[in-house]
Amino acid sequence: MRLADGVEVLELPMRSFSGRSIIHPTLTWDDDTVVLVDAGFPGQLQPIRDALARADVSFDRLDKVIITHQDIDHIGSLPDIVRASSHYVEVLCHEEEGPYIEGRKPLIKMNLERLSKMSGSLPEEQRQQMEALFANPPKASVTTTVADGEVLPYCGGITVIYTPGHTPGHICLYLNQSKILVSGDALVAADGELRGPNPQSAYDIDTALKSLKKLTQYDIETVICYHGGVYKDSANKRLAELASDAR
Ligand SMILES: [Zn+2]
Repeated sequence: MRLADGVEVLELPMRSFSGRSIIHPTLTWDDDTVVLVDAGFPGQLQPIRDALARADVSFDRLDKVIITHQDIDHIGSLPDIVRASSHYVEVLCHEEEGPYIEGRKPLIKMNLERLSKMSGSLPEEQRQQMEALFANPPKASVTTTVADGEVLPYCGGITVIYTPGHTPGHICLYLNQSKILVSGDALVAADGELRGPNPQSAYDIDTALKSLKKLTQYDIETVICYHGGVYKDSANKRLAELASDAR
């Protein structure tokens, strides 16, 4: 779905451990640069290629992937994207997430305790897939770390907002020109409503709630939630409510 000039939200069907859903990576581009925010679940290279083609952006133009955080549904196809590209793809994330994405530390939410908790209820085939994934999680070299408040000079300016909680190094991205917030998993949309972070999937829910306050410093017209998609209804007002509820 096209949200503004050079901003498209992708819609990728995903079958994960918790069932079927749609995830929403963001694509933003101008004449010089093509940036993908978040890289889907493992095995989604082709759906990502197809989504770029539908947006009329050639996969071969993709030169940067910004990762909001380390979870498997955000880094899943990153190694494949980097490998499939005909040229160098820059991978950006907050420095706290780097060691996990590079495989130097185990992914926080992919430990054996969590596996045994979740896999009991899964069909055999899915359980095996999950075990294989846990044994060999996706990893890729991070080329650039980004910091809170940094404005990346691409596509009209992309401001990094450090919003820890869902993971230690979670970031949101503010697209300066279109006033779109790419929220990663700091916010979710469901049933037409914008909600705060999901406590069940947060690494540190108190910190995640505190991070909401930072978002009120930006003039936000549209929010893209990775889970739940686009939210447009008086976003600033709704964010102020969520931030004050979180106190
Ligand atoms: Zn997620």
